[in-house]
Amino acid sequence: NPVPDLLDRLRRECADADGGEVLATIPELADADPDLFGVALCTIDGTVYGSGDDDHRFTIQSISKPFAYALALADRGRDTVLEHVGVEPSGDSFNEISLEQSGRPRNPMINIGAVTTHSLIGDPKLSLEERDARVLAGLSAFAGRELEVDEAAFESERAEASRNLALAYLVHAQGKLDGEPHDAVDGYTRQCALLVDARDLAVMAMTLAAGGRNPVTGEQVVPTWVCTQVLSVMATCGMYDASGQWMSTVGIPAKSGVAGGLLGALPGQVGIGAFSPRLDEIGNSVRGVRAFEHLSAELGLHLMHAP
Ligand code: GLU
Repeated sequence: NPVPDLLDRLRRECADADGGEVLATIPELADADPDLFGVALCTIDGTVYGSGDDDHRFTIQSISKPFAYALALADRGRDTVLEHVGVEPSGDSFNEISLEQSGRPRNPMINIGAVTTHSLIGDPKLSLEERDARVLAGLSAFAGRELEVDEAAFESERAEASRNLALAYLVHAQGKLDGEPHDAVDGYTRQCALLVDARDLAVMAMTLAAGGRNPVTGEQVVPTWVCTQVLSVMATCGMYDASGQWMSTVGIPAKSGVAGGLLGALPGQVGIGAFSPRLDEIGNSVRGVRAFEHLSAELGLHLMHAP
């Protein structure tokens, strides 16, 4: 089969990209082995291929944001979610105060918008624990297996959450947060501490790219219109403040996280996951980005590329 060979070769070709640094600001992440490197790909018929450290588990971090956004859209509808969170790229760092005139966070892929989005998941009356359970079940359905929270990572991030709390209080003051700031940040932090591997990311991406139907389990996780909305926002806002550059060079809707994960979803075609902990100065995995650049060029995956 040519796909596993392709992934092995890709990993070898990208392994010399050893620049960047493992994130030092979250204690639990700082210990990650910087040389880990895994890639995985899921096809629309649910076949998963992987190479290298494709089954090494790490915390999902910001890659949870598009999936939390999907759940909020499915649970509360498009209008309600858009009342609270916008869809414009911010061009700012992921943890910036980024609000529109109306008081809405600019988009759901930066922290201020993601904390707000978390507060919109499930019925408004859910308790903190019930909302956590909805997030866990929802993201597990995207992955096609029961995910778990890394409790140590959760606790260590919760102990250093003042910046996210400040963002949540600001949104609350603007009347755009549904619920209490502490609850929203607690739940959001737990959402970020879910453990995944590159293979999970590939399946999660393919589920988005297949209009919400998990190709492995066959479950319709969210309605198709939700995926269109989520992929659009990923395409414009998913790669921190390098989103425009990413779209022009790689051309695949994607989302990265500070633990070194990276997921790309090409509508109707393929889901791709990558993991390598060293990050560039913007916060994207150095080898992950390189792997996507190679794959996109070699397989002609760029969305704007006329066949
Ligand atoms: N849990 C991290 C935070 O809220 C996620 C950041 C990221 O992956 O961009 O700061």
